[in-house]
Amino acid sequence: MKRILFIILLLSFSLYLRGEIKVAATIFPLYDMVREIAGDKAEVKLIVPPGASPHLFGFTPGKLQDLQGSRIIFCIGNGADDWVKKVKDALRGTKIFTVDKGISLIPAGRSFKGNITYNPHYWLGIPEAVIISRNIKNVLQAEDPDNASFYQANFAKFSRRLLAAQERYIKMLSPYKNRKIVTFHAAWVYFARFLNLQILGTFEPSGTGEPSPRHIANLTKKIRKYGVKVIFIEPQLNSRVLDAFVKDTGLKIKILDPLGGIGGRESYLKLMDYNVKEVQEALESAR
Ligand SMILES: [Zn+2]
Repeated sequence: MKRILFIILLLSFSLYLRGEIKVAATIFPLYDMVREIAGDKAEVKLIVPPGASPHLFGFTPGKLQDLQGSRIIFCIGNGADDWVKKVKDALRGTKIFTVDKGISLIPAGRSFKGNITYNPHYWLGIPEAVIISRNIKNVLQAEDPDNASFYQANFAKFSRRLLAAQERYIKMLSPYKNRKIVTFHAAWVYFARFLNLQILGTFEPSGTGEPSPRHIANLTKKIRKYGVKVIFIEPQLNSRVLDAFVKDTGLKIKILDPLGGIGGRESYLKLMDYNVKEVQEALESAR
């Protein structure tokens, strides 16, 4: 028994010496970016499980237990995962870090108090992903200065891959003149910005509220006028409210995935590959 205890002590001490730190991230794309920058120098935990929506997430006691000892939780902020701030008291010594520093956020509307709110889905732009990764790198360097050059090298490698992907995506979509798309919820404004796509409309503009008949009539008019053939739904959100609309407009349904973490989309870049390919197919069908 004593020997086992001794071994456990030795193991935890060697982990401590290796300097492996414990961190977490709220959503899968952010988790994957943290993994890229941290490499084997940190244990990284994902909070919102693949298949779930951060808009509808709630903490369980088990999940909180799992996060004990985390030095940093990386989050998106701006309303996407603000529930993370509620656990601050439960997790002593954990810093919550919002990764939006330096990003030119797109206004979404106004809050009840009259303040401007911003669209939180900025991780879906590659230029933004580069900035997020740099922010992650800076935080890890400050938290774990012994491995600063390791984090720097990982950031350099990852940002090169991001920029190469961006160039590839822009090329993939360059043949299409009609660049208008219709989405289910307002998650794709940053994606559209770097790919030079035009979001003609969103079925559900205000998160989870039901669209008004007037909103649907306007959207239908635009879809007919511009010859849009496809509406993009998302795997994490219930789109049964679309049934009548899709029947009326004759739109085909395709899937854009803002979160990934499931088969074929088990990295941020694979997720983006998937999304750009879906858009390419939609534009092809409206040519
Ligand atoms: Zn969203």
